[in-house]
Amino acid sequence: MPVGEFELIERYFADGFGKRDDVVLGVGDDAALVRVPSGSELVVATDTLVAGVHFPPQLTPEHIGYRVLAVNLSDMAAMGAAPAWCTLALTLPAADEVWLAEFSRGLRELALRHRVALIGGDTTRGPLTLTLQILGLVPAGSALRRDRANTGDLIFVSGTPGDAAAGLELLQHQSRHASSGYLVQRFCTPAPRVELGLALRGIASAAIDVSDGLHADLGKLLSSSAVGGRLELERLPLSDELLRGHGLERARELALHGGDDYELCFTAPVERRAAVLAAAKTCSCAVREIGVVDAREGLRCFDGGREIPVSTGGYDHFGL
Ligand code: ADP
Ligand code: MG
Repeated sequence: MPVGEFELIERYFADGFGKRDDVVLGVGDDAALVRVPSGSELVVATDTLVAGVHFPPQLTPEHIGYRVLAVNLSDMAAMGAAPAWCTLALTLPAADEVWLAEFSRGLRELALRHRVALIGGDTTRGPLTLTLQILGLVPAGSALRRDRANTGDLIFVSGTPGDAAAGLELLQHQSRHASSGYLVQRFCTPAPRVELGLALRGIASAAIDVSDGLHADLGKLLSSSAVGGRLELERLPLSDELLRGHGLERARELALHGGDDYELCFTAPVERRAAVLAAAKTCSCAVREIGVVDAREGLRCFDGGREIPVSTGGYDHFGL
């Protein structure tokens, strides 16, 4: 029996997402009401996943639900914000209850882990598209911005970039709805670095999350800050799995240009190096120093002191 929009929302999105005291009114009215503490700034981001563009048909509904929140949590992490609330705009080709049950399970798992309340949304029929808006909080003036890097700052990256792009490649060659193996998991269930973002407040000078590839995203941070930078390729943190599957050269390429990692790339003054490493330790997140900010234009890559020409890759939806 076909179910209506209202029943679907009730069944899969109204409950089980965790309650927060600062939600005055959640799902069910024309709009939600939340309480923003005085002295805080509201941090707002939104990201859309379009089937066939942002994920392949092999991705399970559970992982789609997880990912649509993960990519938005990553934006909160990059701002040093504490995520609090989200809304979800769902466009579905059909009211497939098995799909919805799995999707909402994946979304719920990550929402509960990060104490994010789902407070509203919209449900429509059409080609599968998911848009999630996330709202978070930072003490006024303390957000990590991408335009605050300074000449002489050190450049850091978390985790092991390149894994997700390698995982996506593997996933696309698997049969429908398969998702085993370390690299594939790095694409399906990226770990947004929310705790690291919070720990870096007051330490990092600038930050960005790596969604379009480390080279492209670090390039954006540097150009927003009107500085340049030097990246030491031999310092790139590469996972054993990536090296084993692809060899050093291709692993570096994937680490530089592969997307979907959702790691943090950030800068900090030299004298804060120990503080960066201590912050990373408190949240059990590997962080590696990979370069330095300078006053020359653009991002330049070096291997053993020799400059290596690296094309500006990165994923650009409207690029040629
Ligand atoms: P309206 O017509 O007033 O915009 P809707 O009928 O679209 O309201 O939605 C009813 C309620 O359900 C609203 O509170 C809305 O925020 C919520 N809602 C709709 N779709 C979703 C969804 N996919 N996830 C969470 N909440 C939703
Ligand atoms: Mg209304």
